[in-house]
Amino acid sequence: MKTVTGRTDRVVVVGAGLSGLAAALHLAGRGREVVVVERDPGPGGRAGRIERKGYRLDTGPTVLTMPSILEETFGAVGAELSAELPLTRLDPAYLAQFADGSSLPVRSDAAAMTDAVREFAGPAEAAGYLRLRDWLTRLYRVEFTRFIDANIDSPLGMLHPDLARLVALGGFRRLDAKIGAFLSDERLKRVFTFQALYAGESPMRALALYAVIAYMDTVGGVYFPPGGVAALPEALARVAAAHGVTFHYGDAVRTLEREGRRITAVRTAGGDRHPCDAVVLTSELAESYRLLGRLPRRPVPLRPAPSALVVHAGGPGDGSDVAHHTISFGRGWRSTFDELITAGRRMTDPSLLITRPTATDPGLAPAGRQLYSILAPVPNLDRGPADWATEAEPYAEEILAVARERLLPDFEPEFTEVISPADWAARGLVAGTPFSYAHSFAQTGPFRPRNLPRGTENVVLAGGATVPGVGVPTVLISGRLAADRITGAPEQRSRILDLATEEAR
Ligand SMILES: Cc1cc2nc3c(=O)[nH]c(=O)nc-3n(C[C@H](O)[C@H](O)[C@H](O)COP(=O)(O)OP(=O)(O)OC[C@H]3O[C@@H](n4cnc5c(N)ncnc54)[C@H](O)[C@@H]3O)c2cc1C
Repeated sequence: MKTVTGRTDRVVVVGAGLSGLAAALHLAGRGREVVVVERDPGPGGRAGRIERKGYRLDTGPTVLTMPSILEETFGAVGAELSAELPLTRLDPAYLAQFADGSSLPVRSDAAAMTDAVREFAGPAEAAGYLRLRDWLTRLYRVEFTRFIDANIDSPLGMLHPDLARLVALGGFRRLDAKIGAFLSDERLKRVFTFQALYAGESPMRALALYAVIAYMDTVGGVYFPPGGVAALPEALARVAAAHGVTFHYGDAVRTLEREGRRITAVRTAGGDRHPCDAVVLTSELAESYRLLGRLPRRPVPLRPAPSALVVHAGGPGDGSDVAHHTISFGRGWRSTFDELITAGRRMTDPSLLITRPTATDPGLAPAGRQLYSILAPVPNLDRGPADWATEAEPYAEEILAVARERLLPDFEPEFTEVISPADWAARGLVAGTPFSYAHSFAQTGPFRPRNLPRGTENVVLAGGATVPGVGVPTVLISGRLAADRITGAPEQRSRILDLATEEAR
């Protein structure tokens, strides 16, 4: 594995999002002096929180998976996830709701899910589910250690017996066709392929190897911390500070001071200068390249993932008949992906992720109130330019009306907060999407922007735009991979592997 060169005693991490926090913890755990500079007033980045009228909303991720990776991140300095942030395993992980009026609880326990599938679609599909589960588990085992959780220096680094195993498992077939080999019920197929959208692709185009995301949520399970997902970066930052990491909030990094091919200090808008031996950049890719004073060398420009509009709404009710996560599928399927990804139009019959965080932590809303977050995928601003400054509110009304009709008939919101691609764009996020670059095959693994940028000797990238990619577990891994590029990979990494294997059982 290639690493930065020279001394690495003092490291500056730019950004206190999840990737930056993970990098900081791993570096601090390996004895480095770490300074984190963040432009926002606190940690979290995309995994942020808004507090309004007694409601506490997660502005970013709601589907938290792969606790073993959280374990490893806290464990980098000897802290325990269970002590810092006790997680609740959601059961069901999701409720899948279909346009024909049927619904299925998606449960991560094998026996419980087999029963649920049998009741929903009969014994043949239940048997198919068990075979699918076994396949997903084998796929995860082959992919995780070798291709997700590893620094790969070049495409040649992929040449390993696990690549042959991945081929043999059908990882390079199309996702929808591969899932169709196990299940024939169209509704069930959606439950195990919709995750392609998390990767910015349609199940018809995505390779079957991306079913690893369906392993993470449907088999590995979905979790929730007290205080909401934004409590995760807060806990990571608290633990990092307790282990000597210094945080400077509310000050953006403006320039990098350079001597030859080395960055020697980081300068901020507020006039601070932080000398360093190495730097981790977790800013958006364009901002990182601006700081580095170079342009990426790619023959074909990177393709951003679709974006999302999120409506947060709070109001009276007991909500007890609404799951923590509901995936409400519209009638269209192929057409929905075509609209979002190819045509750049909004969904005519929307599929939505409706989250009720107060199902697990009632403290996120005032007493007697419920909080809902409704995420509607929308085209990114490259594919579907829109004037969201004027269109966000009417579209949010539309989405809320659909959610009320399908799931929340008696819900009368007393407060709403809308976040649209215009808001992501205002934060400098590429094409107004918070999901960075799509995980097409040409933008994954050794083909994703590398975390060791050319032209400098002591800078490493982390975050969703680089390896392994977008999502909470993956950006936490990216922080560790960045730390490995600085210190070299530690010899003892058995813990995560044990935990990951444990999860895969
Ligand atoms: C609405 C939404 C829903 C999502 N849903 C899920 C989900 O359910 N499950 C899941 O796993 N993932 C989900 N994600 C994705 C996940 O949240 C992100 O992939 C992850 O949080 C990104 O972390 P990061 O560290 O790469 O980037 P960021 O969180 O963006 O961190 C980068 C940080 O760098 C700071 N920064 C940038 N430039 C500078 C500068 N010049 N100087 C100082 N600081 C700077 C930024 O302010 C920011 O805090 C969702 C994201 C969003 C927005």
